[in-house]
Amino acid sequence: MVYYPAMKTHSTTALMPVEQALKKILEKLQSVERETIPLVAGYGRVLARAVTSEINVPPFVNSAMDGYAVAADDTAPATPERPVRLKITANIPAGESPSLALAPGAAARIMTGAPVPPGADAVVRFEDTSELLAPPVGTAAPADDEVLIYHPVKATDNVRPIGEDIRQGQTVLAAGRRLRPQDIGVLAAVGQAEIEVYRRPRVAILATGDELVEIDQPIEPGKIRNSNEYTHAAAVQKYGGEPVMLGIARDTMQDLTAKIRGGLEQGVDLFLTSAGVSVGDFDMVKNVLAAEGEMQFWQVAIKPGKPLAFGMLRHKNRAVPLIGLPGNPVASMVAFEVFARPALLKLGGQDHYEKTRVIATLAEDVKNSGRRHFMRGLVQLEADGYRVTTRGSGVQVQGSGILTSMVWANGLVVIPEKTTELPAGSSVEVWILD
Ligand code: AMP
Ligand code: MG
Repeated sequence: MVYYPAMKTHSTTALMPVEQALKKILEKLQSVERETIPLVAGYGRVLARAVTSEINVPPFVNSAMDGYAVAADDTAPATPERPVRLKITANIPAGESPSLALAPGAAARIMTGAPVPPGADAVVRFEDTSELLAPPVGTAAPADDEVLIYHPVKATDNVRPIGEDIRQGQTVLAAGRRLRPQDIGVLAAVGQAEIEVYRRPRVAILATGDELVEIDQPIEPGKIRNSNEYTHAAAVQKYGGEPVMLGIARDTMQDLTAKIRGGLEQGVDLFLTSAGVSVGDFDMVKNVLAAEGEMQFWQVAIKPGKPLAFGMLRHKNRAVPLIGLPGNPVASMVAFEVFARPALLKLGGQDHYEKTRVIATLAEDVKNSGRRHFMRGLVQLEADGYRVTTRGSGVQVQGSGILTSMVWANGLVVIPEKTTELPAGSSVEVWILD
């Protein structure tokens, strides 16, 4: 094997704060192009153009109940003992458009969602009529075309006004938002059969290391399986990207260079590598990247995941951002969440990158050493609020190589860099992983 000395790094310089590193990454990125797709394919996509409704929803006054459309005034004297008797002059199922106005003293049998006829201003539920209730003693049973009303209604009772949900001209969804099922439903309601979304960013994923073997290969002495590439491919999908898996590059300039160029040929929008960014003899990802573009290497004030490479690779007349994630599987995942996830979201057109966070009560004392520590945590809702533990029973949960700790965890407990000790009972911020 060819030996290249590791690049001299600034191990004596101050660690870069997490926010500063993230800002330096994000300011280099622009969202990818847009495309138009059918609404039915829109779940999970990021809307690229705000949608304004051309119609009112509902578009007409309609009944919120199965019942009788009436003029509310006609029902004013109704009581269970002395019901009001009205003549049924129409039967309006949902989907019909009544042509006749309701005459005074009349009622129209009406179904939920059916248009309330002119002349009616309220609906009496079946439950308050002779539809479901027998007449009181001394009151003649209603004829086939009559209904008895036992309770008065006020104007607008059980009636849905025009535009109750959405008004014509209203912006129903802003651009930059990842579409959820209810968003898709609203777009359907306003007749948006096609939507403009951002294309899914294509993300190259390259594992590096002489010790790595592919997942379907036997493990020989000194080797471990390549898990990072699979973790990152899944995470890329989780955050709306399309992974382009490039396999394993060996720790040589030649192989790394070839794999990176090969990835760029596939037209990717972001390049993620794992490992080879520390200060060891064979950590030459940053050297190769420096040769292929403009590379920066930082020691970030984060734990786990201190070494981080970032830069822009040159490819034809494009510059493709690269984030060099650390090798240790937990460090790699944490660095993905903190740096690669926001980068991917920004490329994909999303306008905010915040994880869902809760404040929880810490179950035990923790120590920290001057970096922002993302501890694996298990957070649970208890009677007096959220409680989070950083200790598993029977599992080791805080080593940066313990990937099963991420399987155990449902959150990352954020211990601020300035905090050296936190006693049990302290309030801490927890990023919810899912
Ligand atoms: P490095 O940053 O290259 O020094 O790697 C740090 C640690 O992460 C080493 O123990 C590597 O074996 C491990 N590692 C590197 N790449 C991977 C990978 N793709 N999957 C699992 N572990 C890895
Ligand atoms: Mg290595």
